[in-house]
Amino acid sequence: MRIVLVDPSRTTRLIVSRMLEARGHEVLPFADERDALASIKIDPCIEALITSAELKHMSGVELCWETRLLATCRRPIYVLMMSSQYDQRSLIEALDSGADDFIGKPPLAEELYARLRAAERILSMQRELLRLATTDPLTGLCNRRGFFEQATEVCARVVPSDGSLSAIILDIDNFKHINDSYGHETGDEAIRACADAARMQEALTGRLGGDEFALLLEEKSLPQAIEIAEDLRLRLAGKPFDTGKDRITLTWSVGVGEGKPGDTVDQILARADAALYDAKLGGRNRVVGVHAGILTRPAIVTTGFARALSI
Ligand code: GH3
Ligand code: MG
Repeated sequence: MRIVLVDPSRTTRLIVSRMLEARGHEVLPFADERDALASIKIDPCIEALITSAELKHMSGVELCWETRLLATCRRPIYVLMMSSQYDQRSLIEALDSGADDFIGKPPLAEELYARLRAAERILSMQRELLRLATTDPLTGLCNRRGFFEQATEVCARVVPSDGSLSAIILDIDNFKHINDSYGHETGDEAIRACADAARMQEALTGRLGGDEFALLLEEKSLPQAIEIAEDLRLRLAGKPFDTGKDRITLTWSVGVGEGKPGDTVDQILARADAALYDAKLGGRNRVVGVHAGILTRPAIVTTGFARALSI
């Protein structure tokens, strides 16, 4: 585990660091709890905090509390409080302040290891639950919840100026026909094939549900996103799908929307969705883009095998 260790005493830091390193843990020792907190904030790989109850600027209890505020269900952090006062009142106070566990100071090596083994079991279970809650089991892409959670983070982080954030929604054309003609299992295979065609390393990609997929593209203006969307359309249409009975061409309709400063993910996707609706109405197997703010009349349409037009 990557562990932040906080104790004002150099000797304690040295002793506990050695204990932890002997079991393969990576230790980031801090004398000042404010530096430790700053490190936890910026480093998402930190999985645990071991803090002394007695610190320089704030109490260990306060540090536990501040760390608990940084820990989310997407980012679990195990908090262990060490105290030379190993009494019931201190234990209750530590647990009520967000610590997961409590240990005497200096800790006994075997006890520390046992508590960290328990911590690892809990963390790996939390990670697995998180993965299951945010992954679509059929395609391995983010599911709707996972996509929206991550997209919300991206929107909060990125300030789209001049359309530097864009969204693409793809919906398979006449998918019910595939289910009806070849059966649900082949339908599932088709969804998997489409997920493979939609998957892009440089974009957050998710299956929003049914036969609908979405991508959120950072640092991509509308014309760039339209070009990517057109590539995705060609990628799917250009690879025949084997149903077991015959080879068919899968197609999807694609809507592209660009972000405006301060947009929520819902607003950007609503634009892409309006464009998708237009693509379906226009005959399917095409890309439609919509300018920010103009929801009803898409400004750009590409059809057939034409490239994206300029705005
Ligand atoms: P359109 O071109 O207008 O999109 O027509 P469509 O037939 O694709 O219509 P729509 O997108 O509304 O249909 C989605 C269908 O996808 C409806 C549902 O039965 C089917 N579906 C949803 N989830 C799954 C799934 O996990 N597996 C399979 N095989 N089918 C699914
Ligand atoms: Mg469809």
